[in-house]
Amino acid sequence: MPDGKAKRLWALPNAELTVPRSLLMHGGTNDLVTVPCPAYLIEHPKGLVLFDTGCHPDVAVDPVAYWGPFAQALQVSYPKELLLDRQIQGLGYKMSDIKYVVVSHLHLDHTGYMHAFPNARFLIMSNELRYGYWPDADRRGAFILNDILPTRNFNWIELDSDFDLFDDGSLCMLKTPGHTPGESSLYVRLPNRKILLVGDTIHLRAQFDTGATMPLDTDPSQAALSIQRCKAIRDMHEATVWITHDPEDWAELPHAPTAIE
Ligand SMILES: [Zn+2]
Repeated sequence: MPDGKAKRLWALPNAELTVPRSLLMHGGTNDLVTVPCPAYLIEHPKGLVLFDTGCHPDVAVDPVAYWGPFAQALQVSYPKELLLDRQIQGLGYKMSDIKYVVVSHLHLDHTGYMHAFPNARFLIMSNELRYGYWPDADRRGAFILNDILPTRNFNWIELDSDFDLFDDGSLCMLKTPGHTPGESSLYVRLPNRKILLVGDTIHLRAQFDTGATMPLDTDPSQAALSIQRCKAIRDMHEATVWITHDPEDWAELPHAPTAIE
């Protein structure tokens, strides 16, 4: 087993949404919870890797105008200083420095800046692009065609199984489907810790205890297995599972400008 390491990771704050817990997991209460929608920047000796891209900049101006009626239920807070380009520039990088973009899935709070990396190599699991272009009608509100269309001629690499980005064990894209057909996670080995970035494979910590899936999952059986996979990685690899939208994870783990090493 190769034991390469990425150098550091930054969690980049982006928009926050306020929604009932019941939207995020079956069995959740109707209490409102404010959740972060971060992107993650990882420095590796072979280049900068971005995991997800946050929300589109137009969402900071008028969420309903850009996202449509679905946005009314999300109570978006998106100050302009949290726009992805400002966060990346704040760390001293140019957008064109990003060499690889790993896309966990194509929901609206993960795809907003894909258009901003025309020269990057994009990695995604199979079925996600096709599904994102034409989702089932009752799931369509969470996919924004205007986020996806500008990337049509980008350098997309579609994968059908786990993929070790640099063949050194430092960054492994894992197939964790169910939330969407091509949902994936990214396992990151840093000098001092291992972190599993789960995209939307899990939304709240409570799902580890109950195994509950979430109402928007396209395949609950697959989603339940993917939650179990993340739990096994946490327990057997002594990795930190960073649940993207969990406010407790966000409060406990460092974010930009502080890097994790
Ligand atoms: Zn999602």
